Amino acid sequence: MSNLSYINEEAGAWNTYLAQIDRVAPYLQHLADYIDTLKRPKRALIVDVPIVMDDGTIRHFEGYRVQHNLSRGPGKGGIRYHPDVDLNEVTALAAWMTIKTAVVNLPFGGAKGGIRVDPRSLSTRELERLTRRYTSEIGHIIGPQKDIPAPDVGTNQNVMGWIMDTYSSNKGYTVTGVVTGKPVHLGGSLGRVKATGRGVYITGREAAKKNNLAIDGAKVAVQGFGNVGSEAANLFAQANAKVVCIQDHTGTILNNNGIDLDALRIYMEEHPGVLGFPGATPITNDEFWDAEMDILIPAALEGQITVERAEKLKAKLVLEGANGPTYPEADDVLLQRGITVVPDVICNAGGVTVSYFEWVQDISSYFWTEEEINQRLDKLLIQAIHDVWNTAEAKKCTLRTAAYILACERILIARKGRGIFPG
Ligand code: NAD
Repeated sequence: MSNLSYINEEAGAWNTYLAQIDRVAPYLQHLADYIDTLKRPKRALIVDVPIVMDDGTIRHFEGYRVQHNLSRGPGKGGIRYHPDVDLNEVTALAAWMTIKTAVVNLPFGGAKGGIRVDPRSLSTRELERLTRRYTSEIGHIIGPQKDIPAPDVGTNQNVMGWIMDTYSSNKGYTVTGVVTGKPVHLGGSLGRVKATGRGVYITGREAAKKNNLAIDGAKVAVQGFGNVGSEAANLFAQANAKVVCIQDHTGTILNNNGIDLDALRIYMEEHPGVLGFPGATPITNDEFWDAEMDILIPAALEGQITVERAEKLKAKLVLEGANGPTYPEADDVLLQRGITVVPDVICNAGGVTVSYFEWVQDISSYFWTEEEINQRLDKLLIQAIHDVWNTAEAKKCTLRTAAYILACERILIARKGRGIFPG
């Protein structure tokens, strides 16, 4: 706990994050003196976002931008549009970005934003108005040298394009580097859309090798079939794994012989989600957690792997595509049961890594090929997962704790080196 008056620290994603920090503190030796800096955000902004709806009425939405830590560079982190978004969640997500950018050793801090809204309930015009007003409201704290947003649940390339345009319009000149995950024709990077899913596959492949688990023929279950889950599933299928079970917001489907992902994608062009896909059998959402699988990829929302689910999970490897999908107590159960968890802060770091490449390309106005981007991404992530793996072996701890040790050391060394202003 850190006794913040404006966040309920007893529950939610922020509570999970604080528990993770408490677990790493004993490994940090003299740097632990600075650990409180990680237990509070540097800056948290709550904004009112009023918009005129298509029918002429006015609605108000609640928006946030939290900069958790800027010791190592500008803030970096996505923007989420979801009805459950609140300050607790956004602050935890910002903190996980601080850890994530440090694990991969990118020159960024951690930030996150969001609006409490169901984007599916708005028309495209309403979504654009919402995004532009929100961008104006947070405009004074974002910028290429301050804090660089990106997509997250419920937002996409188009939303990033509107953010770039609104920020640029307010400045009076084009600022492509204010946001990443933009369309390529607006200064986006090749390979960005698929980068997070690719990172899940690359880190998962390395962890599987270490665990002597063959990807060829492995059964994979994926929760969330959006940007992250669908690309990760795709790459595992290309490596001859069988994607047997998929859950999204519409329901859960199962086919023990492997779901035909191309056919599913065509089906989803006409349907809101996976439910009803003729090439698989519908099962209940609870049955997802009992399914036969070797690899589980949670790639939807946080707080999905509870103790109860961890106790019955059949997977040998969990690849955290989503941020914060596993409760700390469930982590303990998975450890006891010998199930390896590749933690979110490294597993889904592919997106922020290519976002970093996009920011570098925007600033230098020089763009790389997709091949160059994927090569650099693979190299960076393979190095990072091996560093984490070696730390875990040396300290005899989980991959999550090892990732936090590496990250917290980097952040707190920077914090200590900068000193406390005014001294
Ligand atoms: P997305 O909006 O593209 O897809 C989200 C998916 O989750 C959809 O398939 C949706 O149907 C499903 N979903 C939503 N609520 C659900 C529920 N209650 N039960 C089951 N499924 C549900 O989002 P995304 O970009 O793929 O992000 C997914 C996760 O990955 C999030 O935790 C996000 O923070 C994390 N992440 C995303 C990126 C990125 O680059 N997009 C990077 C790092 C981490």
